Amino acid sequence: MHQTTRFAPSPTGFLHLGHAYSALFAYKAAGNGRFLLRLEDIDQGRCRPAFEEAIYEDMGWLGFVWETPVRRQSEHYTAYREALEHLDHKGLLYPCFCTRADIQREIANAGAAPHLTRLGPDGPIYPGTCRHLSRAEQEQRIQAGLPYALRLRTDDALRQTGPLTWIDDIRGEQAARPEIFGDVVLARKDIPASYHLACTWDDALQSVTLVTRGEDLLPATHIHCLLQALWKLPQPRYRHHALITDADGKKFSKRDQAPTLRSLREKGLTPNDVKAMIDDAQGSKKLR
Ligand code: GLU
Repeated sequence: MHQTTRFAPSPTGFLHLGHAYSALFAYKAAGNGRFLLRLEDIDQGRCRPAFEEAIYEDMGWLGFVWETPVRRQSEHYTAYREALEHLDHKGLLYPCFCTRADIQREIANAGAAPHLTRLGPDGPIYPGTCRHLSRAEQEQRIQAGLPYALRLRTDDALRQTGPLTWIDDIRGEQAARPEIFGDVVLARKDIPASYHLACTWDDALQSVTLVTRGEDLLPATHIHCLLQALWKLPQPRYRHHALITDADGKKFSKRDQAPTLRSLREKGLTPNDVKAMIDDAQGSKKLR
């Protein structure tokens, strides 16, 4: 078994047990192949150099070996801009000037029309306010210096590609349903990229053959699959793992203040103790 897998954390906090599990999952899935570490640090407002250093330190402590140089997404905006241009040439992007408050207001106003307030994996689906702006209106707002995101015309994109599928090793063949996201943001107002764009682009660029990640990110694969088809990139296989939980069934996550790897280390635990904790955690059965 030779796969190229990757562990792609965002340096927005210290790694915890859930991360260690995910990294081990990817490492094992690579078999005798390649294991990559990638830093998904496009959200410069939330990423910190100290967290980035801690990732290297914690991963090294756990005994991981990864290929260098590590791809840091914040160093590759030019590539992401080109990827966006490609979609723009196909007529699939539009600028969106809405603020969060505008979107909430629009959704509230559409209260009488529930089909306009469908919920997607990332929250309420964008109601399409800026989708129908004329070129002149778009230009006028851009010239006036209004910040804008770039959204994908998801339904038009699907019409261009036709129906798509992807393979999840655990769940089998899946029909892609990118429409569940509506017109997803591919470039944020402050960054010429988004998670979906940078992750999909980099997985192909780095020749990742098997994408492993938590099942909380499974919906994202519907969009990634569409982007691969639009950019004519090879499609990797997928393996979405269960999220491990503590004895009370609580997920390990930054938000829930899961114990960080460094706090466990400071308490005197060894890498083997951490691996044993992961083995004991609920949901980790699939790792073995
Ligand atoms: N950067 C993402 C995270 O930390 C992981 C993305 C992925 O594995 O596709 O949640």
